[in-house]
Amino acid sequence: MNKNRIITYLLFIAMLTTMSPIVEAQESKLPEAAIYIDKQPINTRYIMRDDHLLVPALFLKNTGAQVDKNEKYNSIVFKMKNKLFSLPIGTNYLDDYNSWLDIWKRSTISTATVNFRGEIFVPLIDVATKLGMNVTYDSVNKTTLITTNYTIESNLVRNVNTTEKLVALTFDDGPEDKYTPEILDILKEKGVKATFYVVGQQIEKFPEQMRRIVNEGHGIGNHTWSHPDLKNKWSATVKEELLSTQDQIEKVVGLQSDLVRPPYGSYTKAETVLFNEIGLKNILWNVDTEDWSGNSADEILSNVRKDLAPGSIVLQHNFGGNFLDGTVEALPRIIDELHEEGYQFVTIHTLLDRAK
Ligand SMILES: [Zn+2]
Repeated sequence: MNKNRIITYLLFIAMLTTMSPIVEAQESKLPEAAIYIDKQPINTRYIMRDDHLLVPALFLKNTGAQVDKNEKYNSIVFKMKNKLFSLPIGTNYLDDYNSWLDIWKRSTISTATVNFRGEIFVPLIDVATKLGMNVTYDSVNKTTLITTNYTIESNLVRNVNTTEKLVALTFDDGPEDKYTPEILDILKEKGVKATFYVVGQQIEKFPEQMRRIVNEGHGIGNHTWSHPDLKNKWSATVKEELLSTQDQIEKVVGLQSDLVRPPYGSYTKAETVLFNEIGLKNILWNVDTEDWSGNSADEILSNVRKDLAPGSIVLQHNFGGNFLDGTVEALPRIIDELHEEGYQFVTIHTLLDRAK
């Protein structure tokens, strides 16, 4: 090779190496659109292939279907009421389970289920139709509409309806041994009962703190085993996160909670189905102190004053990355200030019992 050819060759190699990440970046940036499920718009990434719309398999959890990956058969499994079927990845097959005959029947669907950069995409219309749902396309607004025909009992509580001046303080993500004892000391001194949303792996690490919470009369709720965003998890994992925490609570304090708070307040209808199945009421909040962000006591107090009303549920933390010095400092001030206004502090259970 002469010198010029070598330079050209090297330039070509350089061009290839600089080009490939750009190509990847473009490919990995999938378009997003809102798909309406029972009139609720839910944003999702999607792929169009041979005129067929593919969405991430987990998107279907928004319909209430349980969605799992079967590693052994390399397939995606959908479960809803008495329906059970699976889509082998990389094929355009659908295997439908007939429980009467205990057999699987294979049929062909519009396009293949694909693995795109580690995420499984399924043909939306085939799956939704098989789940007994109606799918229509609104060509004027260019949106896809799904009617699930599936009624799921909502068990969500953000606050309760009451004229009594009742308020429930809640502390998430513990137990641990720095802030938890400080918070418990303050609550004890002030004679206030609160509710702790506990994380399974934290209970395992700090059983003594867990016992103290319960022994001092506070309420407890399930806050999953490892605090994941449940939306992004297969249904079997979600169930395991909840049940292992139920077991850990039972092991350490000998009781089971009937309350749950999904991490980040994030969940789909599929999680609501599981909460109902396990017997957990989904308790969110209507007053967010944003204490996890490292807010000062003053900022926490002003957040409480802004949104507090009779029947409120206040979100605070006793563990989680940031400094919670503000939480501890604000607590006696919140209690004194609200006592002066005539508020009574109750656990979530008492609050629910005294709701109108
Ligand atoms: Zn949390």
